[in-house]
Amino acid sequence: MKVCIAQKDSRVSTRALFGNYKNRMGFPLLTHNPVRYFGETLKCSVCNSEITYEQTNQLWITLRIATDTLPLLANLCSKECEGRLPQPEIGYVQFPHKGGADLKQPTNKEWDELMRQQYKK
Ligand SMILES: [Zn+2]
Repeated sequence: MKVCIAQKDSRVSTRALFGNYKNRMGFPLLTHNPVRYFGETLKCSVCNSEITYEQTNQLWITLRIATDTLPLLANLCSKECEGRLPQPEIGYVQFPHKGGADLKQPTNKEWDELMRQQYKK
């Protein structure tokens, strides 16, 4: 699966990442505001088919990539591909989402509880 890392600047500390557990920085709302890259088309993050900005369904998903937990922007051509996204990392929003101020992220209390459960395993 190919996903675009939302925060490309590696000098930025992980505290500045959207949804980071230390500050739960809000995710930019994607509903009427797709994130654009260079060019007029893009590729579905799951099946790699070419789609336009009108067709793409963009969703944020937080995944563990190597040693980092990163907020990623997925471009999706269909509901089928949305269903094939991996399960988000524990302690973060547990479904792919559109971001925005209304998004409910795990609270500090929930985070602590989840981490306690993790370490018990
Ligand atoms: Zn697709």
